[in-house]
Amino acid sequence: MAAACAEMEPAAAPPPPPSPPPAAAAPGSAELVCAQGRNLKAVLCQRCGSRVLLPGAATFARRELLLPAMRKKAAAAAAGGGGDGDVVREHWLVRDMFSFENVGFTRDVGNVKFLVCADCEAGPIGWHCLDDKDSFYVALERVAHE
Ligand SMILES: [Zn+2]
Repeated sequence: MAAACAEMEPAAAPPPPPSPPPAAAAPGSAELVCAQGRNLKAVLCQRCGSRVLLPGAATFARRELLLPAMRKKAAAAAAGGGGDGDVVREHWLVRDMFSFENVGFTRDVGNVKFLVCADCEAGPIGWHCLDDKDSFYVALERVAHE
């Protein structure tokens, strides 16, 4: 298991960020998380299959975040408010916006931006707070893995 993951690590990987140690993979997430706590599979848009992250580009993180309900056009969901949303606890944490293959953002909602598919704008698939420029969260349950 671990060896297979190590082979997928890019040779010139950036130094690991000072993130909390990878939490033990949650039940059900185990097949998605390698021994180093990174994503074993590519992360894709559930709706159109657009590639969001390559394997190994993110680390598994647990944090309770409230995401508006999924819409075809995430901007409408973010703007609409209304309180219909889901608390999401399992995320891919990305430390550098340039680690994304493709991603879009909604306009600011307070100090938060929501991540959406760059191609079809499905979302929100993730969460970013302007107070923490180096943390982008992508909700596991809102993306596909390949
Ligand atoms: Zn899409």
